[in-house]
Amino acid sequence: MDRGTSGWCDLHTHTTGSDGTLSPAGLVQYAREKGLRAIAICDHDTVSGVRSLYQVPAGEDPEVLTPLLLDGVEVVPGVEMNCYLDGHEIHILGYYVPFGKGPFEALLQKMQVSRENRVLQTVSLLASMDLPVEVSRVMELSTGDSVGRPHVAQAMVERGYVASVKEAFEKYLGLGKPAYVERYHLSPEEAVEAISSAGGVAVWAHPGTSNCLHLLPNLVRKGLQGIEAFHPEHDSKMTDKCLDLASRYGLAVTGGSDFHGPGSGEGGDLGGTVVGYDVVKVLRKLALTKR
Ligand code: AMP
Ligand code: FE
Ligand code: FE
Ligand code: ZN
Repeated sequence: MDRGTSGWCDLHTHTTGSDGTLSPAGLVQYAREKGLRAIAICDHDTVSGVRSLYQVPAGEDPEVLTPLLLDGVEVVPGVEMNCYLDGHEIHILGYYVPFGKGPFEALLQKMQVSRENRVLQTVSLLASMDLPVEVSRVMELSTGDSVGRPHVAQAMVERGYVASVKEAFEKYLGLGKPAYVERYHLSPEEAVEAISSAGGVAVWAHPGTSNCLHLLPNLVRKGLQGIEAFHPEHDSKMTDKCLDLASRYGLAVTGGSDFHGPGSGEGGDLGGTVVGYDVVKVLRKLALTKR
């Protein structure tokens, strides 16, 4: 694969649409400073951040396959679905999923309601543990429409209960910890099917973080078309394993930094993990064949 000559692309980033600290416009500016040709915005369970960058009248949805060029940076529309299976957290990326259409949009709405309800439950659990935080503060910290545990964690840091977001997850909010609350979620198979049937390209995000690579053949059967081989959490051995699986199953190979913004304490720096522009072309082509 030619990863460089046509311009570097970071195909996994987050904004204030979910738990990133930069606004979508701020992220584009930063990408410009970094000299990136393209970035993909893949907020957790929402497209509100990337949608806000399209200049379309209210109530209308953009044609996502028309390249969106802002200040010389191409913005690829994406989403990252946080899924669970048998106690493992598995993330599925969706590229070029058409906005505002049918069942996929309804699914995202359902996710948002469930996320808000979970915040209420988490906050009451914390109160019962003598760790009160204001729901209104958590909502304020979330700014976007995909409120989550990272925002509760930030409120806990502000109150001085923990020194960092990471510590909040390790002591209270992580899977199996005392303030962990279940929410409505999809299995990875359901997410792949939802993205794929809506017309998007489903890619397994950072498969190395979940220790579940045996699920791959089944996900491919459900419509998975790519694998994120290049990610800051992958060592070279895991990257090579993903590259090998990609060639065996005929999958596109993607990569990105999982940038969450300055001060987020999560992901790499923007442009720290990149792929060539040929990957953007491959993803768009895969999506085009579904139209
Ligand atoms: P939620 O979407 O509310 O379930 O929260 C999951 C998100 O929290 C993940 O997508 C990460 O962005 C973040 N997260 C998960 N574990 C940690 C951790 N140990 N430290 C910091 N952030 C985390
Ligand atoms: Fe995140
Ligand atoms: Fe992820
Ligand atoms: Zn991510």
